[in-house]
Parts: sequence; C-alpha cells; structure tokens
Amino acid sequence: MTKAQRVLRTVFGYETFRPLQEEIIAKVLARQDTLVIMPTGGGKSLCYQIPALLFDGLTVVVSPLISLMKDQVEQLKALGVPVAVLNSSLSPEDYRANVRLVKSGEASLLYLAPETMLMPRTLSLLQGVRLDCLTIDEAHCISEWGHDFRPEYRQLAEVRRRFPKAVCLALTATATPRVRRDIKSNLRFSADHEFIASFDRPNLFLQVVPKSDPVGQTLAFLQELEGQSGIIYCFSRRQVEELAQVLQEEGFSALPYHAGLPEEVRRENQERFIRDDVPIIVATIAFGMGINKPNVRFVLHFDLPKNIESYYQEIGRAGRDGLRAQCLLLFSYSDAAKIRYFFREKSPRERLHAERLLQALVDYAEDDNCRRVRLLAYFGEKRKASGCDMCDNCTAAEEGLVDLTEAAQKFLSCVYRTGQIFGANHVIDVLRGSRSEKVLQRGHGNLSTYGIGQEFSKKQWFHLARQFVRAGLLHKEPEYGSLKITPEGWKVLRGQERFRGRLEEERVRVTATDLSDLDYDRELFEILRQKRKALADRANVPPYVIFPDNTLVQMAAFYPQSEESFLRLHGVGRVKLKKYGTVFLDAVYSYCRRKGLEERLPERRRRTRESRARSRFQKRRYQEVGEMFQAGRSIEAIMKAFSVKRSTVLNHLYNFVRAGYALDRHRLLEASTLPRDRQMAVLGLFEQLGAERLTPIYERCKEEISYDELALLRLVYLSVE
Ligand code: ADP
Ligand code: ZN
Repeated sequence: MTKAQRVLRTVFGYETFRPLQEEIIAKVLARQDTLVIMPTGGGKSLCYQIPALLFDGLTVVVSPLISLMKDQVEQLKALGVPVAVLNSSLSPEDYRANVRLVKSGEASLLYLAPETMLMPRTLSLLQGVRLDCLTIDEAHCISEWGHDFRPEYRQLAEVRRRFPKAVCLALTATATPRVRRDIKSNLRFSADHEFIASFDRPNLFLQVVPKSDPVGQTLAFLQELEGQSGIIYCFSRRQVEELAQVLQEEGFSALPYHAGLPEEVRRENQERFIRDDVPIIVATIAFGMGINKPNVRFVLHFDLPKNIESYYQEIGRAGRDGLRAQCLLLFSYSDAAKIRYFFREKSPRERLHAERLLQALVDYAEDDNCRRVRLLAYFGEKRKASGCDMCDNCTAAEEGLVDLTEAAQKFLSCVYRTGQIFGANHVIDVLRGSRSEKVLQRGHGNLSTYGIGQEFSKKQWFHLARQFVRAGLLHKEPEYGSLKITPEGWKVLRGQERFRGRLEEERVRVTATDLSDLDYDRELFEILRQKRKALADRANVPPYVIFPDNTLVQMAAFYPQSEESFLRLHGVGRVKLKKYGTVFLDAVYSYCRRKGLEERLPERRRRTRESRARSRFQKRRYQEVGEMFQAGRSIEAIMKAFSVKRSTVLNHLYNFVRAGYALDRHRLLEASTLPRDRQMAVLGLFEQLGAERLTPIYERCKEEISYDELALLRLVYLSVE
C-alpha cells in the first residue's frame, strides 16, 4: 500500500481513491506542478490534503470563499488534521493563534483568502517557514476569460515566483480550454501535467418533465422524497417567496433565499439548511455558491435555467457525497420565452449568443435519448450511447408506447388544411370543434378536420403535439410556433409509416429513492441521523462534519458491533473512531439487541483490480441484478427483491449484457412463455433487423408478442454461447 493510500484509510476513512485522485497526488508528491479540472463533488480537496499530510513543510491553500474555507477547516479539524486559517473574518486573538500554529510548524495546512495571501505580513510569515505546496483552489478566477475573474488572483502568479521550491497545484471545476491555457501560462506550468476528470456525475438521476401544474408536480415530488434535503430553484424572487409559502402551508419545512432578503435572514436560512434543521430551501440562483453540503438529495428546477452551464452547475450541488440524488427540471416553452424577453436588453451579438445557449438547453429538454450523453456532449465529452440507467429516457425505455398513428394523421391533416401557418393551439381548437371566433371567422368550422378530435382533451392533444414535433413529424417555427409538416410527417399522413408514442402525460416520478444500492435499515438510519444531529448541535457544526450520510447508511446496512468493524466503514478514520465510535456503536448495539440482529459486515475480500473497480459499496444496480440472475435467482425473485417491474429487471439485464457480462442462455429461454418455434422466429428477426431497438421487431410480429417477451428473447439473442 502506498503512503497516500494509508492516509486515505486511516485519516479520512475511505477505502479507495476516486478517479484521478491517486495520479494527481503522485504528481504533487513528485513536486510537479499540476492543473486539475474536476467537477464539483469529484473530490478535489483530497488531492492537496493528502500530500499536505505527507510533506514535512506547510501546504498553503488559497480559496476565494470564506464560507467554504470555514467548512473545510471544520471538517479537517474533526478528522484531527492540524490546520490553520487566515482571513479577514477572524478576530485579532484568533488571527494570532493561527499565526502561531503556522510559525511553530504545527499546522500542515493553511487556508488563506487571496487578499490575505498578498499582504506583506503574510508573505513574510511564509518566508519564515518551509512551504512545500501552494494550492490554488477555484483557479479559473485567475483568467479574465473565466466567469469569475478576480484581480487578486492574477497577482498570485507573482507570489508563486517567490516560492520557487514549492510545488503548485491549481484546481477548478470549470474551465474552457482557453481558461486552462490562461491558468497554466500565468502560473508558468509546463503543459503536460494536466488532469481533466469526466464531468459525468453518475449518481445524479436526470429527469425533465413538461411543466403542466408546477406546484402540484413539486408537491408530488417532495412527497416521494419525504424529509430529504434539497434545493428548489426559481426564476424570480417573487416566485421564491410564493412557493416557499405554499410549501409551508402544505406542511413542508422550507425556507426562502434570494438576494432581496436582508443579509442576516439569508445567512440564517442558509445555516439552517446546512445544519439539517430545515430540509428544503427555495431559492433564486443567488443560492449555492459556497455551499458544500454533501447530502443535498435533490435539485428541482421549478423554472428553466438560462443555459446548460447554469443547469449543470446547479444540479452539481446535489449528491456530492456520491449517494443517489434526484435532479428534476420542469420544462415549459413559455419559460424559455420569458428568458428570451430579457435578452432584448442585450446587444445583437450578445443576444444571439445567449439565444444559442438557451436553445441548447431547450434541445436537451426535448431530447428523447439518454440525457447524460447529451449533457456530456455539450461539454465536449463523448460517452458511449448505451443506456445510463440513471435518466428518465433510459429508464422509460419502451414501456408505455402505443400506436398513435391515427391521432397523428388527424393532427397532421388538420395542420395541412389550416395552411401550415398556425401553432398547436389553433390546430387543437379546430380538431376539438371549438366555436371560438378565431376558428369560425377563418372558416375553419367548415374544414373536414373540424371536430374530428373530440376523443382527446386539449391537454392531451398538446402532449401529443409535443411528441409529433419531437419525433420530427412536424417542424415548429421558433418565433411564432407555427407548425409545418416534414417529409417524415408526410409518410405518416399517407399511411406509409406508423407512429408510436405515449398517451399518458409523463409523470413526475422519483425513480431511485434508495440512497445507494446497499440494502439498509431505514429505522436504524433515522435513529443514527438523530444521534448525529444531537452531536453536531452540541459541537456547533453541520451534521456532515461528524459523519457523511454514507457512513450512516453503512452502519444501518452492516450493523457493526466492534471497533474493528466500525473502522472499516466509509468515512471512519482513527480520530473519528475515537471521538464518536462509542456513541454510534452503542446505538447500533442496542438496536440490534432489541431486534435480535447480528453484524452483517462482509468479509474483507482480497482486493484484486477487478474487485476494486466494482467495489461492493458502489456497485451499479444492473450489475447487482445481473449477478443475482447468474447466481440462480429467477426474474420473479429479483422483481420482488427490488420491488420493480419485470421490464425494469429485463432492462437491467440488458445493460449488464451490454457492459460485457454474460448471462445463462438456457435459464433465459426457460423464462420465456412462447412456444419453441416462435422463439426461434423472433431470434431470427433479431438477426435480421438488429437488436438495438425492439419496436421494429414488435411491429414485424404484428404486435402479438409483448415487449417484455421480446426484451427477454433479445437477452437470449445477445447471450451467445
Ligand atoms: P470538490 O471539491 O471536488 O467539489 P470534495 O473534495 O468536496 O469535492 O469531495 C466531495 C465529497 O466526496 C466529500 O464529501 C469528500 O469527503 C468525498 N470524497 C472525496 N474523495 C473520496 C474518496 N476517495 N472516497 C470517498 N469519498 C470521497
Ligand atoms: Zn441515460
């Protein structure tokens, strides 16, 4: 085991490094300047905290936000790491005490605000000690091309020249290639030591739902996430106030946050959110900078953000602890129009630019394919187009699709008869036989399509119309929303092609409420959570400083009964064992006695490369399902074990196979209810038409074989012997 690994285990209590951490730490320890681009929650802090504990001298960390600094320092102190901090918010006594910690060589880490770093007395303090590492957090602030340029940061380059022996580590979550070049040339880095982590956040469930009844949708969403902590973003201050009020009236504990509130109120509300006193914060985009709360379990966009960057940054505040979190965007075209309205104040060039960015977000919202693929593509990252299992489009797959050809033909023909110059609203009025002036005046009451669409409500027609546009049957002219039939649409209208879609409005659904794939005891988790909260309040720190949620989840899954087992939990190092071990062990022990339960900690396995990559603690659901099937469990048993539908299990198995694992072909065939000859016929169709999509097969089988059955046979087809 390397020294870095040992520190990771004993001090931080983590089993394995996150992607790139180990490589970055090795570079820093070898004293090679390094630039790190990693998304929020990726684990940047360890990249300098671990070297800091291994260097003899001091590691300085420059960080622009005092609240974040405070948070980091609290967390390090709880881990028993000797740390000092200097910024303008300290009292003179505290300031002197921290200076002493640095002078005496006691502190391994010193956190500094950039303006403090530049002060002559700080520089002379640092000149008097051995400085091994200079870390620049939020390094994009150096660049004028970044979104957050700070002049003090520019001068850090100067400071760095004064300490030529110290290795320099620059970190940021956002940097375009231009900003990256800027950072490196400013700090005079050589080009090769650059680490760019994937921007994928696999634990975030991504979902977009048409905004039909936003308050109702929000309430439904919150009900399912009962008691969990999260942020609701709104467009305006007024909306924030109103929604917070409604939520309170409905019995949810929620607080507002926006720039119009007095400073003390804002601070107080933020603090109560961070400390888990109040689970929900309703906010404008003013909220979030400097929030390090790792257990934000959901981010709900009540209104549309301005562009993908903002959206990504805002959802990035969820699930920093690596446990699952839900990101729901309520999408409406009128929100997009509202945002556009504000573009009028911009110059034509800026307006065009802003318009493009907004359009990219609208495209994302309208996309029928994996949301992750699209989101990452926006940031220039290619991802295999296979399903991610953690977005609405991937999990919905082909469930619920029905033949809507007739409805499409009615709609398209009405678009045609009204001259292809109207929007959906008018077309629907004609279809439903409205007696409105606009319809009658234009003589549309005499059209053959007048009143032929009574079978659907106005709302249902709108939902259908959206699908027709998304499927490319109609082109929607961006400015006025008038609809035109595309060549694809003509094929459907002429009956050459069929159209399949959803009749049901997409519902707000909370798909992955489990925090992790671990099967943990909810009741014990709650008990431990309260214990933690009491300890945190007594120590005057946020609960996550005591232990992250992940640790509690593991306690509630494994029922550790000894110090040795306790030490094996995520986030438990030596110091935390000593500080909190007894309290939590007692709680677990008495719970287990009461319920007659025993410790369930898995044997510590030999850590081969493979088992490390698929650590038991982080295993993806499809892997678990695949392995269960291979271990002999039937599909029905797996459905029960996870309380999911058959189609969901089949979908997991499909992802399992696509990830390169093999399934037992014979057992799959046994699960099929079709007679042998039809099985063979379907397998032949896969051979002929490919296995990417089930719909063509479904249609070739004259819709007589269910999707579940086809999904099962597809697995057989893909499981070559
Ligand atoms: P960033 O600064 O990149 O936003 P942090 O450094 O704050 O991310 O890390 C996010 C969370 O992940 C923290 O709660 C941290 O303790 C946790 N974490 C970081 N590295 C690991 C690891 N190797 N194993 C487990 N948890 C980790
Ligand atoms: Zn997906």
